[in-house]
Order: sequence, then structure tokens, then C-alpha cells
Amino acid sequence: MKVKVVTRILEANERIASNNKKLFKEKGIFVINLMSGPGAGKTSLLVRTIELLKPRFRVGVIEGDITGTEDAERIQSTGVPVVQINTGGACHLDANMIEEVLPELPLDELDILFIENVGNLVCPAEFNVGEDIKVMLLSVTEGEDKPLKYPLMFQQSSVLIINKIDLLPYLDLNMEKLKERAKALNRDLHIFEISCKTSEGLQDWINYITESNAKKSIEIQTVG
Ligand code: MG
Ligand code: ZN
Repeated sequence: MKVKVVTRILEANERIASNNKKLFKEKGIFVINLMSGPGAGKTSLLVRTIELLKPRFRVGVIEGDITGTEDAERIQSTGVPVVQINTGGACHLDANMIEEVLPELPLDELDILFIENVGNLVCPAEFNVGEDIKVMLLSVTEGEDKPLKYPLMFQQSSVLIINKIDLLPYLDLNMEKLKERAKALNRDLHIFEISCKTSEGLQDWINYITESNAKKSIEIQTVG
């Protein structure tokens, strides 16, 4: 019985996610679903990413948290439109939550939308919200065993960003093993090693977004 209920929930979510996706395509918005465990640095990454994208792109953000508005306020300080979702206990965002807040964003004036998911390495990977890509952020402090413990997250993501590499001298992380294990789960995974603190590696990530956004624009123009 329980399995059937879960299947039905995921099917209903898929329907709404594909509606969201259609709307994003109509509006020409490239959408990134950013996922990580708590404290990996999603909001810091977003603030740095927005600073670097802002001269060329119109960026918007949907912030997902169980409670509170601290992260949304940090994003707001960059000057881009942001809307906060408080899930009230739910440990992931779903397509319905995204659909509900879309009227609060100036969709006609956006090129790129970031959706910061709730900090959790498990179920955010199960719920599509209509995004173009899922991006997973992992801090070097989390260790090289994460691909073994949370495989779905690595399988569903197009990109793995390994953050806080400025801390590497103080840790025993086996970076090669981490990347090897991630790639074993997902051969197409793009991996970026970055530090939001020193800016190392950030430009490669920005280039990736820029290229992916351009690819989507070309696809939209070619198809219709
Ligand atoms: Mg956050
Ligand atoms: Zn959840």
C-alpha cells in the first residue's frame, strides 16, 4: 500500500513539474535546481554566482527553507528578485510549491532562475520541479563517502560542485576517490572544484552556466 501512495505522489509531482518546465521554456528562462546537505554553502555560492552573472544576465532566485528568511535576505542584498518558500517541515521542495510562488517573480524579465532546495541529501533528488538541470553542492568537509551513502543525488545531478577547497590543507579528504566514486555513479557528471572564499574555480562554473543557457536559447529558437 505504502509504495502505491508514494508512486502516486511522485506521478502527481511529475505532471506539475512538466507544466512548470513548459512555462520556463515559453519565458526562455534557464532553471537550476541547487541541492546539498545543510551547511555546504548553497547560499554563499548563489551570492557569488549572482555577482558574476549579473552584468550579463537577469537572475532570479527561489529560496527553499523549512523555516526562516535569513538566506532570502542574503540573496536580496545582491539586488535580484527573490521569493522565499517555507516548507513548514517538509525536507524538500516539490513542483507544486514552485508553481505557487511563480506569480511572485517577474518571469518576463528573467534569463536564469536558481531554486535553492532545502538542505538535505536525500529526497530533493526525487522531486523534479521543472528545472533544466540539477546541481549538487558538496563541501570538502563532508568526506569522500557521500557518493556511497547518497547515490541518487549524484545520479540525478548534471553538475557536482565541490566547495570550500581552501580548507583542503587541513583535511584528509581523498579528492581523487571522491571524484572517482561520483563518476562511477554518473559518467556525465561535470565536476567543479571551487572556493567561494578565494573565488578559485568560480569562473569555470560561470562559464558552464553561460554555455548551458546559450544552448537552451538555441534549442528554443530552433524548435519553435
Ligand atoms: Mg541556504
Ligand atoms: Zn523530503
